[in-house]
Amino acid sequence: MDYVSTRGMAPVLSFEEAMLTGLARDGGLYVPAEVPVMSAGDIAALAGLSYEEAAFRVMRPFIGDNFTDEGFADIIARAYAGFGHAARAPLVQLQPNHFLLELFHGPTLAFKDFAMQLIGQLFETALTRRGERVTIVGATSGDTGSAAMEAFRGLDAVEVFILYPHGRVSEVQRRQMTTVTEANTHALALTGTFDDCQARLKDMFNDFAFRDGVRLAGVNSINWARVLAQVVYYFTAAVSLGAPHRPVSFTVPTGNFGDIFAGYIAKRMGLPIEKLVVATNQNDILHRALSTGDYVTQGVTPSISPSMDIQVSSNFERALFDAYDRDGNAVAQLMEELQSGGFHISQGALDRLRGSFASGRVSEDETSAMIARAHGAFGELLCPHSAIGVKVAQDHLGTTPMVTLATAHPAKFPDAVEAASGIRPSLPPRMADLFDRPERVTRVENDLEALEELIRGEVLA
Ligand SMILES: *Cc1c(COP(=O)(O)O)cnc(C)c1O
Repeated sequence: MDYVSTRGMAPVLSFEEAMLTGLARDGGLYVPAEVPVMSAGDIAALAGLSYEEAAFRVMRPFIGDNFTDEGFADIIARAYAGFGHAARAPLVQLQPNHFLLELFHGPTLAFKDFAMQLIGQLFETALTRRGERVTIVGATSGDTGSAAMEAFRGLDAVEVFILYPHGRVSEVQRRQMTTVTEANTHALALTGTFDDCQARLKDMFNDFAFRDGVRLAGVNSINWARVLAQVVYYFTAAVSLGAPHRPVSFTVPTGNFGDIFAGYIAKRMGLPIEKLVVATNQNDILHRALSTGDYVTQGVTPSISPSMDIQVSSNFERALFDAYDRDGNAVAQLMEELQSGGFHISQGALDRLRGSFASGRVSEDETSAMIARAHGAFGELLCPHSAIGVKVAQDHLGTTPMVTLATAHPAKFPDAVEAASGIRPSLPPRMADLFDRPERVTRVENDLEALEELIRGEVLA
């Protein structure tokens, strides 16, 4: 399977190379040259399989010959062994024709575990075979960093450094990073904001001497392997509800457009998805773009659903690439315009996007009200992100079954949930001692040279 860049100017790579590279050299994102299609018979045959078996069948055609069948099956088994639910991604019914897909049973209680756990095992297997070692540096506002530390801890081929803004992540999020004990993981609390963390990360990638010296690699949400891992649960959920014989719709709380883009890939693979509904909080660039055709950045306003507080939605570039008939030049041009604040989507491309995606936006008050209402009416305590999904989904209910993705466990955002519902959600028993575990963290200043020296010291020691 070949992978091409959305800007058309970077080398064509294999799955493994695209995964280890992350961002393409022309600034674009890697996508499969062709999306493999599953027949109705192949999809029907997923019924009754374990999550791992379904994952193997859905992802296998994308992997190429970098991994053997046995090797890939082992990787999947290891990736999901630490989940706290036998179904991995169980479905719960909320109301007539409306279902919740619980994606928060992984080790850090957010859906990012599905992709990060898989990518950890893929990196370890590929790098060990190549006799290589890499340094992963990530910037996080909370969920990505903890998922990455959990996924890479104890692996031989990887050293992990996660930058988070000191004092600006929730206590649960912080402890999920600082209580990881393995020596190859490092939580770095930076004096500054999330934007500062991201800016220093970008500086490190642009410092080629440093980048090559420590073999820097990235696992942020533009990594194609992360998107691929998320395609699987669209299949398992839809098949549980009658696909391929009956179509299904999905509503997805969205920030960087990674999770919902995985749903779009599932649809391209032949899964009968009627609607893919984008649900945003007050940082609604995607809802505005799909409504008006103008993709224009505004500042980020912090919300009670912080994992969706984005200014630019990086994976949207992949959807634009298809909407513009896979014309890399056209996409490169739009991204150039974005540097000065935004761009207008052509009518043809907009019509195509609207053929796949609907959208809705939810205010802070509506989010809190939804958390309270869902607890009263459905007996479900929702995290703020999932509540945004449920609210938007309710505006799109019809005769087709609707599945809303629950992206995090309510106990990950206890303050917002308690303020809305009066109930303080508790951590699952397997994590109940999180607040008693010792913390290990290094305080760092917002200073590129000092950061690089620290990382070099650890890696080359
Ligand atoms: C990352 C995240 C999202 C947004 O996912 P995208 O793939 O960026 O759209 C939503 N909810 C939670 C809890 C998250 O951690």
